[in-house]
Amino acid sequence: MNILKRIEELKELLVKYNYEYHHEDKPSVSDQEFDALQNELIKLEDKYPEFKTSDSPTLRVGGAVLDKFTKVTHDIPMMSLSNVFNEDDLRLFDEKIIKEVGKVEYNVELKIDGLAGSLKYKNGSLILGATRGNGIVGEDITNNVKTIKTIPLKINYKESLEVRGEIFMSKKSFEKANKERVRLGLELFKNPRNSAAGSVRQLDSKVASSRSLDMFIYSLITPQDHGLNTHTESLEFAKELGFKINPLSKLCKSIEEVIEYIKEYTKKRNDLKYEIDGIVVKVNDISIYDKIGYTAKSPKWAIAFKFPAEEVITRITSIDFQVGRTGQITPVANLDPVLVQGSTVSRATLHNEDYFVDKDIRENDFVVIRKAGDIIPEVVRVIPDRRQKDSIKFEMIKQCPVCSSILSRKAGESGYFCANPDCDAKKTEGLIHFASRKAMNIEGLGIKIVEQFYNDGFLNSIKDIYLLKNRRDELIVKEGFGVKSIDKLLKNIELSKDKNMDKLMFGLGIRHVGEKVSKVVASNFTNMLDMFKLNKDCLVDIDEVGEVIAQSLVNYFRNDDNIKLITDLAELGLNMEYGSNVVLKEEFSNKTFVLTGKLEIYKRDVAKSLIESMGGKVSSSVSKKTNYVVAGTDAGNKLTKAISLGVKVLTEKEFKDLLDR
Ligand code: NAD
Repeated sequence: MNILKRIEELKELLVKYNYEYHHEDKPSVSDQEFDALQNELIKLEDKYPEFKTSDSPTLRVGGAVLDKFTKVTHDIPMMSLSNVFNEDDLRLFDEKIIKEVGKVEYNVELKIDGLAGSLKYKNGSLILGATRGNGIVGEDITNNVKTIKTIPLKINYKESLEVRGEIFMSKKSFEKANKERVRLGLELFKNPRNSAAGSVRQLDSKVASSRSLDMFIYSLITPQDHGLNTHTESLEFAKELGFKINPLSKLCKSIEEVIEYIKEYTKKRNDLKYEIDGIVVKVNDISIYDKIGYTAKSPKWAIAFKFPAEEVITRITSIDFQVGRTGQITPVANLDPVLVQGSTVSRATLHNEDYFVDKDIRENDFVVIRKAGDIIPEVVRVIPDRRQKDSIKFEMIKQCPVCSSILSRKAGESGYFCANPDCDAKKTEGLIHFASRKAMNIEGLGIKIVEQFYNDGFLNSIKDIYLLKNRRDELIVKEGFGVKSIDKLLKNIELSKDKNMDKLMFGLGIRHVGEKVSKVVASNFTNMLDMFKLNKDCLVDIDEVGEVIAQSLVNYFRNDDNIKLITDLAELGLNMEYGSNVVLKEEFSNKTFVLTGKLEIYKRDVAKSLIESMGGKVSSSVSKKTNYVVAGTDAGNKLTKAISLGVKVLTEKEFKDLLDR
């Protein structure tokens, strides 16, 4: 890579993004994307100082000052904050401070995501409200700040005073402002920060007034002139004068306490009424600020810990296609490995053709990825600025990547399918699904073994699983296996024969028939063999079964090959019945449970089965109707919601006690 070229590229991008963010209040990339690029530039400039220029965005605070406002030169510059993104760098910050001035106490505060504002008072009256602007010169927004109800117009203090803080919009006001914009046919605000910045920088103060802005004060300028020696004293003093101070700040005796606070609010951030984008850590003793010093852009006695990215950037190295058990073709992006929410991700789904065409996703593109529903990595969008000049549009394949049959797309559906019933990929995926935990739960028959047995000719269809015992002698001599492991596998296969009809139905992999539908349908038929006679009308009467599912079931159970497979399985001794294993227990019967957080005693599936086996239901969301929330470690939003709704919360141990009672 040409370093100088990359530095120039980064500078150009950051200037553009800064303009969109600070000048237009309309960012085109997320803050995490911006921070990642800015960090890359900081690192390159540190490594190659000969390429660092005085116009670098890493040396500048904020953005342009709008001409429509009167300009205000700040008596003392309004600086930015340096960022850290992990605990190690935070500890380094602490080490540097200790080296400079010895051990200190830190005041930690929420980093409110709004925009910095300054308020000046003379003879007890508010005389000026200003934005930070470029740090040296800001915009006079006095008329607008006067509309913010929590800002006192008069204070009981005659000395000249300047306080600074964050002007912000609560999540609720943000939603309200956007609803209004929908009504007026205007473009929506991207987030509360941009909404607050856009509102406070309006010439017409009636507009600012209608947007319900708010302000937390987080510092007092030249505190020692007012007899204040620590940051916490400053905040206390400001509070006494009637300013709104965030109540959640805390004085910490060590960096470990700071880290605990960060962990706590990383979890709680989504429950706050306003957005925060990190935690600010400030040395508490004001008298040592000058000794610790300043960079061109920020004080060295404070740092912002930015929350880990929920969206991260990486590069697509190639795109390939997977064939599922139903024959559906899924495009999957192979990525330069990257850490997302605690785990390394090297592949991400592109769902289907419409998805990558709409987003114009191509090989070699830099893309933003996140975990959908916090689990499955998906590509969110492309970063067009980083696209190679010779990039070409990516196209859907026409033939199955495994068996080469021509793919088809059904009207009204987004996916392409391989219709070949003998496609190797479909068959192995079908077998893997059949043996999987939520279906027949055959321990030991995982992906690798299924593929190996399929390739070696031991398995071709589901029926073959139950015929493996006849080939024990051939299996035990296979490399990597032995008497013990094969006997264990054969025993597990035999045990699976007793599974309830709903597990078998789910395992057969009928289109549109998932775990829940299988259970509901199975509970309406006492024996699977009765289903060969079923018709659509009797199915649609069942709760949860619509036209599409009903048609799919009819197609499946009227198909001769499937009838043969099921009859053979019955002859091999598989249970075809839906014996309701439910033994009602008062504490569980008709009660709704929500499981949240990490469960240590039970696997989630096991906990769910236990609840259902006693007549209870498991739901994925908490509402007033929820009877119990079982909260494991690291429980988040659902736990908070349960507490706020007054729903009974059980620890996993209490849940176990309830089961054992
Ligand atoms: P910053 O937002 O990272 O940190 C400094 C600011 O934090 C202060 O000026 C203050 O306004 C605020 N703050 C909130 N609570 C505070 C508290 N308790 N104590 C002290 N300060 C507090 O830095 P910045 O210079 O304002 O903005 C740069 C950041 O803005 C970037 O890191 C990026 O996240 C975002 N940005 C995004 C884009 C984009 O295109 N998405 C473009 C430019 C900047």
